[in-house]
Amino acid sequence: MAFQNPEADAFHWLVDMLESVEVGLVVLDLDFRVQAWNGFMENHSGITASQIRDQVLFNAFPDIPKAWLTRKVDAVAMLNTRAFTSWEQRPYLFQFRNTRPITGTEEFMFQNLTISPLTNTNGEVNKVCLLIYDVTEFASSKRALERANEKLAKLSMTDRLTGLLNRGTWENLVDAEFERYRRYGQATSLVMFDIDHFKPVNDTYGHLAGDEVIRHTAQITRSSVRQSDSAGRYGGEEFGIILPETDAENARIICERIRDAIEKSIVTTSTGDEIQYTVSMGIAQLSGEPENYMQWMQKADEALYQAKETGRNRVVVGK
Ligand code: GH3
Ligand code: MG
Ligand code: MG
Repeated sequence: MAFQNPEADAFHWLVDMLESVEVGLVVLDLDFRVQAWNGFMENHSGITASQIRDQVLFNAFPDIPKAWLTRKVDAVAMLNTRAFTSWEQRPYLFQFRNTRPITGTEEFMFQNLTISPLTNTNGEVNKVCLLIYDVTEFASSKRALERANEKLAKLSMTDRLTGLLNRGTWENLVDAEFERYRRYGQATSLVMFDIDHFKPVNDTYGHLAGDEVIRHTAQITRSSVRQSDSAGRYGGEEFGIILPETDAENARIICERIRDAIEKSIVTTSTGDEIQYTVSMGIAQLSGEPENYMQWMQKADEALYQAKETGRNRVVVGK
């Protein structure tokens, strides 16, 4: 009867509770032999307590980082204090499949781990207890949030229509490149360009067709420059490119490539219209001691103006 032996009874329900709690409990002796292994560990590992009893943990789970865990456990035993590691430091100790349907996007269970010292009747630490918490739901929502934030940060840097850098971001990069020039004096060029006679494109084919032309210009630009070059949409149908480590003559070659590719291509709009168009481009290589990046942009803009004035569909290098 239950009340005749209250201590044995208490022990019984205590064990029941440890068996069924949704936390992994593992007791190890200081040689890493498993002394206790609760229901959570059985369910997720597929290994029963009797199978693993007295086995060295590292033999049963060769994937566990031995040096790392040994260091942790030794510190816990020596100092007689708890140690904690979160999933952010180490995603998991035991590689368990993630079985939660809601958080099915994660392959493995994320775990927080606490290591507690266990003392014998003399007060000496002779075992440790590992507590393994399943934090998959929390971890996966945090990771999803981080991914969303990354995407947002990227979106706020780029222009929606073209995917190029937006004006603010691009101008900041012009400023940064200008400062780099001031410090190191390397050759560096800036390009400003504008679609020729764009108003008639909008008037003839409509604003949406105009947008397709703008997108086409962006595509050609993106595929004509290097990874280290920065292309931005400066205004409606105005673009800018920063060409680091590039002098005016090499900038001209790149610009001619873009100008030529645009002149030769035909944009077929979604309504079936075929549009041919051209661009005018101005280049400014940094030289001397300009005061600020705005002067640099002004120089490129003046070259662009000259290209327009002298017939359009051309590249002009600013003096
Ligand atoms: P120019 O050769 O001198 O550059 O002549 P232009 O007709 O291209 O003149 P301008 O560069 O001043 O034209 C700007 C036009 O671009 C005016 C505006 O209606 C149009 N525009 C500006 N932003 C957008 C946009 O996002 N989409 C579309 N479809 N049109 C735009
Ligand atoms: Mg224009
Ligand atoms: Mg314009």
